[in-house]
Amino acid sequence: MKVNETCVGCEACLPYCTQGAIFMEEARASVNRDLCVECGVCIDSEICPVSAFEEDPDDLAAFKRPFGRLLAKHTDSKTVTKGSGYDVKTNDANPKLPADKMVMRLEINRPRGGLKFGDIERMRAEMERLGWNPKVGSRARSIRGDGLSEKMAGQRILTCHLEVILDPEKIPQIVRDATQFVNAHDLWVSINVAGVAAMIDRTQAVLKDAGVYMEPVAKVNLGLGRRQ
Ligand code: SF4
Ligand code: SF4
Repeated sequence: MKVNETCVGCEACLPYCTQGAIFMEEARASVNRDLCVECGVCIDSEICPVSAFEEDPDDLAAFKRPFGRLLAKHTDSKTVTKGSGYDVKTNDANPKLPADKMVMRLEINRPRGGLKFGDIERMRAEMERLGWNPKVGSRARSIRGDGLSEKMAGQRILTCHLEVILDPEKIPQIVRDATQFVNAHDLWVSINVAGVAAMIDRTQAVLKDAGVYMEPVAKVNLGLGRRQ
């Protein structure tokens, strides 16, 4: 993100930045591009009285943008959600995972600090070392290849997720492993578990034993399922 020359220095945008990346310099706002995760809150909030925020056409900013956009009007379903290894929005009409497994989705972030691609790779490698087989979600996979360049490893984005397919009985263990990792690296993780409806009772029983309360949420895609 960048601020153009129309800025009148009112400072109204400062509290809106999710990463504290906007700063004042010679009575005009500026964006620290290293801290900026391209979340778009400054521009989408329309807080600026002179519309001084502009999307940076720079290649790196354009690459980071689909990872960071928070507001629906700017998300592009073709680039943001398509390509997820095992879609959490799977349903009983068109299952994308084995009927006796669940998908564990670990959404990782670091509020006001951003998540670096290197953090994602570290967590993926650590989970793999612990015996899990995590898939890195969305476009983050495309940057892995033979390993991250130093430049890319240091780039900040808003959030990323890892997905693991597993037996429900293993959920408490992966929660412990993921919690240990995020605590050690000053990250936050939010956790989703998804699967077909027939697995709800079994999963709920496991989580209840582990002292976790799960509230099932159903998703129905009318007309989008495919007959098996
Ligand atoms: S895009 Fe997000 S991180 Fe970047 S300056 Fe705007 S609010 Fe801050
Ligand atoms: S809200 Fe707009 S005019 Fe005010 S400081 Fe921020 S960029 Fe400048």
